[in-house]
Amino acid sequence: MKKGRIFSGMQPSGKFHLGNYLGALENWVRLQHDYECFFCIVDWHALTSSYEDTSRLPEHIHDMALDWLSGGLDPEKNVIFVQSHVKEHAELHLLLSMITPLSWLERVPTYKDKLQQLGAQGKEINTYGFLGYPELMTADIILYKADTVPVGEDQLPHLELCREIVRRFNYLYGEVFPEPQAKLSQAPLLPGIDGRKMSKSYGNEIPFAASPEDLRARVRLMVTDPQRVKKTDPGNPDVCTVHTFHKIFSRDELDEIVMSCRNAAIGCVDCKKRLAERMVAALADIHVRRAELEANPGRVREILAYGAERARQVAAATMAEVRRVMHLS
Ligand code: SF4
Repeated sequence: MKKGRIFSGMQPSGKFHLGNYLGALENWVRLQHDYECFFCIVDWHALTSSYEDTSRLPEHIHDMALDWLSGGLDPEKNVIFVQSHVKEHAELHLLLSMITPLSWLERVPTYKDKLQQLGAQGKEINTYGFLGYPELMTADIILYKADTVPVGEDQLPHLELCREIVRRFNYLYGEVFPEPQAKLSQAPLLPGIDGRKMSKSYGNEIPFAASPEDLRARVRLMVTDPQRVKKTDPGNPDVCTVHTFHKIFSRDELDEIVMSCRNAAIGCVDCKKRLAERMVAALADIHVRRAELEANPGRVREILAYGAERARQVAAATMAEVRRVMHLS
C-alpha cells in the first residue's frame, strides 16, 4: 500500500552534478518504494529563464534521463517523463493563469531576487514565462492530483502559492484538486572541490557522470586545510573540503580519519586517496547502470515514451474533469 502520490521535477540544464544527486535524486530513489511517483523532466521550465538558445535541450533531456535511471529510478515503479510530451500541462497552466491574481505571483520572495540576479548576468527575463513559473509548477503538480511534494525549505513559498491556487480553483468550480503537502527533505550540502557551493558555473563541480578516473582526478584537486603545509603539520579537518566529503562517504572510519589528521598521522595525499576509493565504491552501481544505458541509447527514448503514455492517461482524466466543472467540454 503506497503512502500517497508524489510529483517532482528537475530542469534539464546539462549541469547535473554529484551535489544534485545527493541533494535530490538520492531522496527520490528512497521515496519510490513508498509512494506512487511522477518524476518529470521539466523542459518548459528550463525556458522560463533560458529561452534564447534551445539547441541543446534534446541533449540535456537525454542526459537527465540517463542520470535519473543510472542513479536508481525504476521506470516500472515510477512514471518518468518529459513535461512537453504531455500537452495537458500547458492547458492547465493557461486555465490557472485566468484565476490567479498577478499580485500572488509578484509577491513570491524568490521572484524579485532571481530577477535581479539573472538580470545582472545580462539575461532579459522580465517575461510572463518567468513570472508565471510557479503557476506552471502548480499545473504540473495538480495535473496528477499529487498529494505530496518533496521540497527543500527554499521552495516552500512556491508550494504555498500552489496551495492557494488550488483553494481558489476548488472554491470557484468545486472540489477537484487535493492541496499538496510539502515533504521536507534534508539533504547533505556538498561543497565544490574548492570549498565554495558546488556549481558548474564555478567550475568546481563533480559531474554525476564522472568516470572512476575522473572522480579520482577531481578529488586530487580538492582544497585541504591551507595551514597544513608539511605532512608533519597537524591538520584541522573542520576547514577541509576533503573532510566534508569523508563525512558523507566514509562515516564508519570518520573518527579515525579526524584523529589521524589532527595528529599528523596521515598525509593529505593519502587521505584523498582513501576518499576517492570510497566514492568510487559508493557510486559503482551507478557507473554500471550508466554504461549499460549508454550502450543502448534507444532504451532511454523508449522509457521516456512509455512514461509519457502513462502520464498522459492520468493527465487526460484530470483535464476532462477540469473542462467539465469549468463548462468547457
Ligand atoms: Fe583534510 Fe585529510 Fe589533509 Fe586532514 S589529512 S587536512 S582531513 S585532506
